[in-house]
Amino acid sequence: MELAEEQNSQLRIRNSKLFCTFVPLITNIIYYMKFETKAIHGVRHTNNPTSENWGSTVNFATTFPIKEFGVEQEFEYSRVSSPTRKDFETLIAKLESGKYGFGFASGMAATSSVFTMFKAGDHFVFGLDIYGGTYRIMHDIFNQFGFESTFVDTTDLAKVEAAVKPNTKAIFIESPSNPLLDVTDIVGVVAIAKKYNLLTIVDNTFMSPVLQRPLELGADIVLHSATKYIGGHNDIIAGAAVVNDEGLAEKIRFAQVALGALVSPFDSWLLLRSMKTLKLRVEKAQENTLKLLAFLKTHPEVVKVYYPTENDNKGKAIHEKQASGGGAVFSFTIKSEAKAKSFFESLKIALFAVSLGGVETLVTHPSTLTHTEFPEEEKVARGVTRTLIRVAVGLEDADDLIADFKQALEK
Ligand code: PLP
Repeated sequence: MELAEEQNSQLRIRNSKLFCTFVPLITNIIYYMKFETKAIHGVRHTNNPTSENWGSTVNFATTFPIKEFGVEQEFEYSRVSSPTRKDFETLIAKLESGKYGFGFASGMAATSSVFTMFKAGDHFVFGLDIYGGTYRIMHDIFNQFGFESTFVDTTDLAKVEAAVKPNTKAIFIESPSNPLLDVTDIVGVVAIAKKYNLLTIVDNTFMSPVLQRPLELGADIVLHSATKYIGGHNDIIAGAAVVNDEGLAEKIRFAQVALGALVSPFDSWLLLRSMKTLKLRVEKAQENTLKLLAFLKTHPEVVKVYYPTENDNKGKAIHEKQASGGGAVFSFTIKSEAKAKSFFESLKIALFAVSLGGVETLVTHPSTLTHTEFPEEEKVARGVTRTLIRVAVGLEDADDLIADFKQALEK
């Protein structure tokens, strides 16, 4: 990452010298800009003579005039390619340090579309704590088409390697995990994948490209529930996939066009608008998180907090190498289930709801809401107890959040 940063800064200097003489190079300059600048200036339509905007406008058309008989053109039918979705795909690719981005109707549409590139008899290694919806499509849908899956604790690289079989095609991970924020060594997984000629697929929803960019760490495919930080306002369901390899891009493009689980033009435009403030939002939510954590750690009703950069998280050092912050999701345990119930019922600002990554602070109960598909003993064995509370911190004033948590804990 450091080398990439250095190369980027050399290119930035070189490009800034060229800027005066070669205005058309603006697109290249944007490519090497820092995250915030890319998020704001990453999509520009400088060459479009009819455009009155620098940035993206929403284009709802499903079909486009064929300009020349027998000549293929970029926009013909919008399931195949659409101007506003293309802008979203361009920007998410740039933010994830990838070459090719793909917009989908949801995070699950992205994941399931990507998996259609595999065949019956292929085997996959998954993290044990992957998102429940991903577990469900593998366990209840793709298994019917002959896919095999092994779920392992990917925080232990020896277990990951031991799970690889002759027919394994990919390792699928999330880091940190939900809801206990366990850390998987992405570079370590990539090394195993390369050794056995497998793909590394990373669901980067929890970190967002602001804090972690798995393609820079050697991963092959990055997936997002863009419903979360990318959208950021709890009002869009969307997904994305980003890759660097042209062959993989072709396969994902084929699945996207063939299956048609696409993000709409309006949602693409909203996502573009949201991404301009992505870094600000993630940083503020993380700042609030650190303040809330500091308060909770001193509160007598709180037993333990779970967060990637806490000293007792065994993956702390790895997380700090592969990500630039702990993010804005944490969990904590409270002294009793009755206390947990009264906590949820007493909150006045934070909302009792599933999801994460939006402006509102959302507080959820994994045992009864997000992890219901697992039997009670398995949940308890994994640490998903009835006293565990997960918090997805939003952008409210930190003191107001602390006051809200305090009164709810003390009810
Ligand atoms: N991946 C992760 C880590 C998630 O948390 C979610 C949803 O909560 C998804 C994927 C699925 O995303 P969506 O709800 O946009 O389909």
